[in-house]
Amino acid sequence: MAVPSSRSFADVNAVVGGYLRDLAFAQSSQQKMFGYKRAAAAILALDVPLTDLVGPDGALPRIAGIGPGSTRVIREILDQGASPTVEQAIAQSDRRADIERRRQLRRHFLSRAEVRRVLSDPTFEGPAVEQYRGDLQMHSEWSDGGPSVAEIADACLQRGYQYAAVTDHSYGLKIAGGMSMAEAAEQRRAIENVNARRGNQFRLLQGIEANIDAAGQLDLEDDEAATFDVVLAAPHSRLRKDEDQTSRMLTAITHPAVRVLAHPRGRISGSRAGVIADWDAVFASAAQRGVAIEIDGDPARQDVDHTLASRALGAGCIFALDSDAHTTTQLSYAETALAHARLAGVPAERIVNCWPLDRLLSWLSNPSSERRQ
Ligand SMILES: [Zn+2]
Repeated sequence: MAVPSSRSFADVNAVVGGYLRDLAFAQSSQQKMFGYKRAAAAILALDVPLTDLVGPDGALPRIAGIGPGSTRVIREILDQGASPTVEQAIAQSDRRADIERRRQLRRHFLSRAEVRRVLSDPTFEGPAVEQYRGDLQMHSEWSDGGPSVAEIADACLQRGYQYAAVTDHSYGLKIAGGMSMAEAAEQRRAIENVNARRGNQFRLLQGIEANIDAAGQLDLEDDEAATFDVVLAAPHSRLRKDEDQTSRMLTAITHPAVRVLAHPRGRISGSRAGVIADWDAVFASAAQRGVAIEIDGDPARQDVDHTLASRALGAGCIFALDSDAHTTTQLSYAETALAHARLAGVPAERIVNCWPLDRLLSWLSNPSSERRQ
């Protein structure tokens, strides 16, 4: 696995973003808390590392969303590698234990700047951005996303994709505006219209993000699942439990309609660890069935990350690298997934999104064609 030593000053923007989140949770004023959270988000979304922004005189340029309090923290980290100001604020707050817990839940997340660095570093063997042909998880106005399917198709074409799958939530996930089967039939007609207008240039698939219940069952009947071009299965509940949920995940990937295990843990940065399971057992079963393990590129998810992805690669898995976008600008989150695949050394050949459409379609109709030999 190629992880160059240049990562040793690990992802300075992620370090700063983490300290600013810590500082946010140490505040007693709501307003200050939101201010530091906004500052953390601004740093994590920067395209370049803060170390590149320091002028020859040591001064930092003005960064939108960053006030004097945050600037002081940044300076400390750039100069000393740590922030005494933040450590002191934590020590004086009554939320020390909670802040420490959140710190543990921020591991193996990449900042936007680090994503860009990994994508442009030729020493990684994984997929190049140009090899990525289409995104297989995104949400439209038919569930909890913003764009129409036509807007999605246009945005994907602009990104140079040859195909994509719209994967709205299925009806079991009411909280995310899950689609009824009647709505799914209507959406199918809208997608067919989009495809008719774009001919051979681009193909929009109708997918579904099915919800995995506590027992590992999907919120779709078999005949309903069969109406979609691609079925993702993803956990959205029981994500803060300490108990082992291996059998739940094994049951989900054994469902004959499932092609992708999406955001397998359901973790959220600084908030929850998600499902606890014997992932090596889950990956072995997925490899045997030709079910793809997703690297979800939503910056708050990054699920699975490169450490788990390299174990899945060792088990013989194939991968889906997806944005989980809910707006068209969020389609860029696919790059976060690509960066994790590169860090894990996943070859493009093992990534379904790097396959030509005909290979993708034949895998979707017969996953055992791609199972581990
Ligand atoms: Zn989901």
